[in-house]
Amino acid sequence: MFLIFAALMAEAKTIAFHTLGCKLNFSETSTLSRMLENEGFEKKEFTDVADVYVINTCSVTDNADKECRQLVRRIQRKTPESLVVITGCYAQLKPKEIAEIPGVDLVLGAAEKFNIAQHIRELSKGDSAKISSCEIEEVTGFNASFSINDRTRTFLKVQDGCDYNCSFCTIPMARGKSRSDNIANVLRNAHELAAAGVKEIVLTGVNLGDFGKGSDGNLKHEENFFDLIKELDKAEGIERYRISSIEPNLLTNEIIEFVANSKKFMPHFHIPLQSGSNKILGLMRRRYKRELYTERVKLIKTFMPHCAIGVDVIVGFPGESDEDFKETFDYLHSLDISYLHVFTYSERDNTHALSIEPVVPIHVRNERNKSLRNLSYMKMQYFTQQHTGETRKVLFEGHAKNGVMEGYTDNYIKISTPYQEEWVNEIIDWKI
Ligand code: SF4
Repeated sequence: MFLIFAALMAEAKTIAFHTLGCKLNFSETSTLSRMLENEGFEKKEFTDVADVYVINTCSVTDNADKECRQLVRRIQRKTPESLVVITGCYAQLKPKEIAEIPGVDLVLGAAEKFNIAQHIRELSKGDSAKISSCEIEEVTGFNASFSINDRTRTFLKVQDGCDYNCSFCTIPMARGKSRSDNIANVLRNAHELAAAGVKEIVLTGVNLGDFGKGSDGNLKHEENFFDLIKELDKAEGIERYRISSIEPNLLTNEIIEFVANSKKFMPHFHIPLQSGSNKILGLMRRRYKRELYTERVKLIKTFMPHCAIGVDVIVGFPGESDEDFKETFDYLHSLDISYLHVFTYSERDNTHALSIEPVVPIHVRNERNKSLRNLSYMKMQYFTQQHTGETRKVLFEGHAKNGVMEGYTDNYIKISTPYQEEWVNEIIDWKI
C-alpha cells in the first residue's frame, strides 16, 4: 500500500524523534526537530502516534542494531502506515543492513542528515527502503546544532568528526574528518541561546580540542579552541560554559590557566583516559602516555583545587591482562579525580582492535566494569565530602521528579532539593 506524502502533508503532519547515543546526537536531533517544525510539522512524543518517525542512531552503543530493530518493530505494530527514517552514525556505517529492517522507509547517511526535510517531502511508503548515503570521505560539511530542553542548559555542537585513529573507535568512519564551526557563527548561536533565556552552554564535539585544526587542509581554519573559549568568555548573555570533553594531549596549559581565571568557564573538565596502562594506551593508539595525563590533572588541581575532573575509561580491551587492569585501577585510585565514566570494550567491525589478542572474556570485562564503577562512586562521594559546608553557585533545572528538582554547582556536584518554581533557571548561592 502506498501512502503519498503530499496527501500526508495536507492532513496531520506529525513527527516524532528518538535519539540513541551521545550529547552530540541529542543536539543534532533537537536541531532536526526545529528544522522540521519550521517546515510545518507538529512534534509528537515518540510514544504517540505520528505520521513520521525519525530515529537518530549511534554506533558506540552496544546494541545499536537491536535497539533500532526494536524501535521500528514497535512503530510497525502501532502504526504500520507511518514513515520511518533512520539516520545517525549507525545509518552511515551500515546503511544496507538498516534498509533491510522491515518497516524502514529511508536511511539517511551523514551527508544527508540535515537535508531531512527535502527527503521526507519526496518520501512515500513502499516495500523497500531508500538509501541516501555516500562514502564518509565525501562528508565535509559542518552543521551547527544545539539542544534546548528546559532552557537551563544547552549542548552546542561546535566541532564534528575526528582525524585520530584509536584502534577501538568507529566514530571517524561514521562522522568523517575533523571540521568545525567558525567563531563568528558560534557567537551568533550563543547570543541566540542567551536571548532564549539559556544560562549555561556545554560546548560539544567529537574531538573538541581539535576545533579549527584538522588534517584536511580544506577543512581547517586559522582559529583554534583557545581562541574560541576566549571569545565566548567575552560574549554578553551566557553566564556559564562547560567543555564537554577534551583529549589530554589537546588540553594545553593555556586552556587550563584560562579556565582557572575565567568567571564563565566552570571549574570542570572531562578528560578521556581510556586506560591507566601505557601498554594498553599504545594498543589503543591513543596519543599520550599516562604520565601526560597525571601532569594535566596536577596542573588543573594546582590552579583549581575545587575543580571537578571526570574520566572516561574502557575496560576489557584486547590484551588487557589482570595486571594491566590492576595498573589502571591503582592509577585511578591514586589520581585526584571526581568521577569515572566506565565503558566495557565491545568489538566493532572494521576496527584494528579486532586483530589484537588475547580477547578478554565477557564476564571478566563485566567484573572490571563493576570494580571501576564502585571506585567512581567512592571518588564522587569523596569529592562531595571535600566541598560539604562550602557555598557554591548552583544552576537549578526545570525538571521535577516526585517533587524534587536538581541543579549542579559550578564544580559539577549534583544538588537535589524540594521543587521551587522560582528557582528554575536561576543561579543560587547554595551551602552544600
Ligand atoms: S579521539 Fe579516538 S576515541 Fe575519540 S572520536 Fe577520535 S578516534 Fe574515536
